[in-house]
Amino acid sequence: PVGDKKGKKSKGKRVVQSGDLYDKFSGRGGRGGRQKTKGPAQQTQITQAAEHKRVVKMEDTILVGELAHQMGVKGGEIAMKLMFDLGIKGANINTAIDFDTAMLVAEMYSFRIEQVGFDITKYLPQLELAEDAKKSRPPVVTVMGHVDHGKTSLLDAIRSESVAVGEAGGITQHIGAYTVALESGDITFLDTPGHEAFTALRARGAVATDITVLVVAADDGVMPQTVEAINHSKDAGVPLIVAVNKCDKENANPDRVKQALSQYDLIPEAWGGTTLFTEVSALTKTGIDTLLDAIHLQAELLELRAHYDRPAEGLVIESKLDVGRGPVATVLVQEGTLKTGDTVVVGEHYGRVRTMTNERNDAVSGATPAMPVEITGLSGVPVSGEKFYVVEAEKNAKEIASHVAAQVRQAEMAQRVGPSGDLFGTSDLKQLKIIVKADVQGSVEAVVGSLTKLSTEAVEVRVIHSGVGAITESDINLAASSEEGVRVVVIGFNTKPDNRASNLADQLNVSVLTEAIIYDIVDKITGLMTGMLEPIYVEQPLGKAEVRATFNVPRFGQIAGCMVSDGKIVRNEQCRVLRNGEVVAEGTINSLRRFEENVPEVKNGFECGLSVSGFDGIEIGDIVECFTLKEERATL
Ligand code: GDP
Ligand code: MG
Repeated sequence: PVGDKKGKKSKGKRVVQSGDLYDKFSGRGGRGGRQKTKGPAQQTQITQAAEHKRVVKMEDTILVGELAHQMGVKGGEIAMKLMFDLGIKGANINTAIDFDTAMLVAEMYSFRIEQVGFDITKYLPQLELAEDAKKSRPPVVTVMGHVDHGKTSLLDAIRSESVAVGEAGGITQHIGAYTVALESGDITFLDTPGHEAFTALRARGAVATDITVLVVAADDGVMPQTVEAINHSKDAGVPLIVAVNKCDKENANPDRVKQALSQYDLIPEAWGGTTLFTEVSALTKTGIDTLLDAIHLQAELLELRAHYDRPAEGLVIESKLDVGRGPVATVLVQEGTLKTGDTVVVGEHYGRVRTMTNERNDAVSGATPAMPVEITGLSGVPVSGEKFYVVEAEKNAKEIASHVAAQVRQAEMAQRVGPSGDLFGTSDLKQLKIIVKADVQGSVEAVVGSLTKLSTEAVEVRVIHSGVGAITESDINLAASSEEGVRVVVIGFNTKPDNRASNLADQLNVSVLTEAIIYDIVDKITGLMTGMLEPIYVEQPLGKAEVRATFNVPRFGQIAGCMVSDGKIVRNEQCRVLRNGEVVAEGTINSLRRFEENVPEVKNGFECGLSVSGFDGIEIGDIVECFTLKEERATL
């Protein structure tokens, strides 16, 4: 009964195995994780992160009642703490709270929170798939580069090589993604303006691209968007192939481009590097074969394989609401084969695939891995970057969709402590990613230089992108697309986000810092880094009490009658119970009474009744040690 989850304390004496106790109580940490204590407690103890078993599992949000249930305390008690300690008005057991808030509450009870994603796979049919049943699939390629360097022209040139369509040039393209059937093998292109598709998808945690083709005009060289493209694909871990375009031009200078790109660690094989470079002309269609070969070669290295014969899953690339056809989504199949009539669930929407067409608006009956198609028949417009799954029955789809919808609603309504996107909130993170924009190149270098120098052993500062000009939507998307848990700050030095970027930053909760003095930037970033360090907790002893008697109070639990023999015992402070010098339990002083009266503390030489949170196994002769944990700021 030690771990009685419902928090109802049973009447009568409990049988407690000391092994259980040790397991339950010794391995946990308090705020920040305290170290295991064996034998008599040391006077002062520096805390360290420790593994422990007092864990609450939650998705993005949790109801107060559920949090209380998982910790074995009363819902009302948590609601009170939320109202009085954390300032959340009107909290009750049906209030949903967010992760950070739940963490603060859990810490009060020495619990840890583990965030578990909504596990959609629970609702999906269990597939038994043999690894060797996988077949190779076409690569998914995104073409990026500076404006006017020839991205569109290059894609046109590639499509004209298609074996499927004879008179290639005249294809009317309906959707921003298509597979080109080539003699050498199929290649799928995600073709949306600039880097928007790439970054917008990544902002939602999805990487659809296997390979990036970086187009650089041989007569123009490395430009801001070239650098942006490099940084975006590097940050996403997507391999990059360089296509030096416009090599037909008189003033073309491919070597200068290669030289300039070597600064970004893109070094051609001929120069001892590993990056695939091709020299092409989209205009004269020279070098296109070589580029396609390079893509196939890179794809082979990536060993891109997927199951063809299974219910499909994949990603939403783009979506819209069509007046006549209803919700329309371009999806990229990643596993299995998507067929018309399939029941699909995507986020909070679902439906049966009514029509399925390719970029030429031709009906397609089955879409295989790496094939993009446009589908209709969904109940609503899904978000790009969202995963879709084919499920067996419409009932399952509905169930999953409604669960997701409930989650979304709950997350929107969740109570949280403090302002959202708090730049200086504390967290466990050890890497700080930074995007620097400034008015002139010299400033960019100066800011990047002084920020990079701030890295310490505890926190690494990494500039993932820098450039001249205003903070754009692309910068915000890049910031938002960083892995979960990694903090990213966008810095504007003498420059600001444009309107759209500023709205997007609000929407995606991206921290933007605009300053006009480098010192201020350094100062704020240093502050932020310090805030990222886990605070150190130093234990300070408060007092000791000897247990003289124990009582069991129905519906409450155990009360230990004690004599304070040293210092003082303070209500709500930390404590441990010692028996023959061994720690048998740790917790907080839950209630503290002198006679019938609740008191905040009891001093040396006085008797009191106390209870220890989560522990009802106190015995006569035990020593209750009371202590406080003083938070000390860690230094960089
Ligand atoms: P995007 O903005 O990167 O999509 O660039 P476009 O494909 O729209 O091309 C911009 C301009 O460069 C157009 O006028 C094209 O005709 C021209 N262009 C593209 N590729 C080549 C090339 O290989 N050689 C030459 N001479 N011009 C090109
Ligand atoms: Mg274009």
